[in-house]
Amino acid sequence: MNDMKLGDVTVLRVEESDGPIMAAGAFFPDLPAAAWEEQRAVLVPDHLDGEMVRAAMQTWVLRSEGRTVLIDTAVGNDKVRPAVAAWDHLDIDFLGRLAAVGVHPDDVDLVVNTHLHVDHVGWNTRLVGGEWVPTFPNATYLMPEVDFAYWNPANNPAIEGGVNENAYADSIAPVHAAGQVRLWRDAYRIDGNLRLEAAPGHTPGHGVVVLESGGDRALFAADILHTPLQLPHPEHASCFCDDPAQALTTRRRLLDWAADNRALVLPAHFSGAHALEIERAGGAYAVKSWA
Ligand SMILES: [Zn+2]
Repeated sequence: MNDMKLGDVTVLRVEESDGPIMAAGAFFPDLPAAAWEEQRAVLVPDHLDGEMVRAAMQTWVLRSEGRTVLIDTAVGNDKVRPAVAAWDHLDIDFLGRLAAVGVHPDDVDLVVNTHLHVDHVGWNTRLVGGEWVPTFPNATYLMPEVDFAYWNPANNPAIEGGVNENAYADSIAPVHAAGQVRLWRDAYRIDGNLRLEAAPGHTPGHGVVVLESGGDRALFAADILHTPLQLPHPEHASCFCDDPAQALTTRRRLLDWAADNRALVLPAHFSGAHALEIERAGGAYAVKSWA
């Protein structure tokens, strides 16, 4: 996918990584192996690699009303991630890739963290002289108020030893200390084209970005779904979804809206074409076209 124009908004994608990340049976504990087999021809190679789910870590870069907006900031460099070897002490020239599409850190006006999981906040900060400092010094960082409280280890001791260990301390707290965080809940109007909407379930404060501009619509769907197999099987959540029942309600509400409004769906982690249009199919959904 190259840059695209949706109404008055330009959308680009900057990738941090793309590849197999986790065995399908572990990622989606309740999705039967037969469902993967049935769709194997559709899912291989972009979304399934052997028995492993393939996923991208990436940032959406939007230019809207003269401002540069980043949606999610992937895993980040130099982070200590004891629970996930593939994310521990990364050394990827992500900022070089951002620069290659014309975005210097000073140029970023707004960073949207759809939720505060480790793979969505990494480039919020970078390590300079042993200190974590905001990567985007002029940006306001929009974070869900509910997640900001939930992922603070002082409120949630279960974080220690888990996938999100250290993320609050190295990627969230330093931005807050710098006075660059704006917390939102329920809904938040970014500008005339973009708004944030609460989409809880994957995490309690999880949100999505809705684009409506010049007759075009798009849903930056974050982690309401992790594989195209959840279109024919929307009832199945990933093992990282905090409240699977609430995640299902949110998934159905937003996918219904996207199907009925011909909105482009841009999940956080889809590989391959990265974005798609969907349609209703029985009580579930199907891919109408890849972007
Ligand atoms: Zn994620």
